[in-house]
Amino acid sequence: MKVLVLNCGSSSLKYQLIDMNNESVLCKGLVERIGIEGSVLKHEKDGMDEKYVVEQPMKDHKDAIKLVLDAVADEKVGAVKDMKEIDAVGHRVVHAGEKFACSVVITEEVEAALKECIDLAPLHNPANLMGIDACKAILPDVPMVAVFDTAFHQTMPKSSYLYGLPHELYTKYGVRRYGFHGTSHKYVSQRAAEMLGKNIEDVKIVTCHLGNGASIAAVDGGKCVDTSMGFTPLEGLIMGTRCGDIDPAIIPFLMRKEGLDADAIDKLMNKESGVYGMTGISSDFRDIDAAASEGNELAQAALEAYVKKVQKYIGAYATEMNGLDAVVFTAGVGENSITIRERIASNLEFLGIKLDVEANNVRGKDTVISAADSKVKLLLIPTNEELMIARDTLELVK
Ligand code: ADP
Repeated sequence: MKVLVLNCGSSSLKYQLIDMNNESVLCKGLVERIGIEGSVLKHEKDGMDEKYVVEQPMKDHKDAIKLVLDAVADEKVGAVKDMKEIDAVGHRVVHAGEKFACSVVITEEVEAALKECIDLAPLHNPANLMGIDACKAILPDVPMVAVFDTAFHQTMPKSSYLYGLPHELYTKYGVRRYGFHGTSHKYVSQRAAEMLGKNIEDVKIVTCHLGNGASIAAVDGGKCVDTSMGFTPLEGLIMGTRCGDIDPAIIPFLMRKEGLDADAIDKLMNKESGVYGMTGISSDFRDIDAAASEGNELAQAALEAYVKKVQKYIGAYATEMNGLDAVVFTAGVGENSITIRERIASNLEFLGIKLDVEANNVRGKDTVISAADSKVKLLLIPTNEELMIARDTLELVK
């Protein structure tokens, strides 16, 4: 069975064709600048020396998906002879509100439900829906599945998802914690249990998805019980350009002082803050790391604040679960930054966490990086959201 995984953004689209017989990636690629001048598709498969690049106007997601399918079934660069070999399509969808706690086969009702969630994810859900519509038009007989970023977190108890706000704001507008990166937290927690040789039901894990956007989840017995992102992906950790947790009173204060309206303060917190705003250097942690090593004090302070925030959440979630068996690092920073992992682990000895500095000297592959006598295991696990989407898709359509 071959599953096409699609992740549609507002002007971009990532795809992978996965052979579910052995979970191998047959080909993958990226389309950028959909609907904007300079549309381009970059496609690759194993054994190709260079990426196959197509530059041609694409006015919408339908044009883009047509081009993707042409590449996937191309005689030279493709991975199948005919697009009829695609058995199912799995779509990444960002927000399902409280409507879905697991992946679902896409029907008219599901599409309608996702439209109702547009208010909650105005930047993401419309693009995801465009991808679904475009696929439906081109591959009308192929079953499609939606896999949601929010679904894994739907097991959180009320005590984790309710804010200290008037209850009617929850009933009226759905103002509550939803959490994001759920597909990643689910994948790495399952993989962690496998690597520990334990049943997932028997372990308490904190999963740290540290990328440009970053979130932490407390996973007790395979179920998410708390997570750091909230109503939107702005809450929680300090990120590349997002501020994470701040005193909410700062918002009206700045609006008055700087004469900002709602959109301007939203932009400030989402795009101009985080380590980028704190340093004025970059949102890329490699640049911050380099500047800190060269003695830049703002970069040093930003890194320290970033690391402390991660540690606070690990400590809080260990307390919340009343125990901790493993901490997982994943995503861009978590998979690649040896120094940031080391700094995070260095202050958590009291929890029974002991890093193996040698073992930690690794990037991007499944590795146990804690010392043999560490009570709590530390794991580096590259995330694989596409594979998780393909697995859910296979499960639901087979
Ligand atoms: P997203 O999917 O949220 O865009 P990723 O998970 O791809 O993010 O992570 C991207 C981030 O990973 C980059 O901003 C970069 O800062 C960070 N990163 C990648 N490699 C390294 C490294 N060697 N050291 C520190 N940070 C790194």
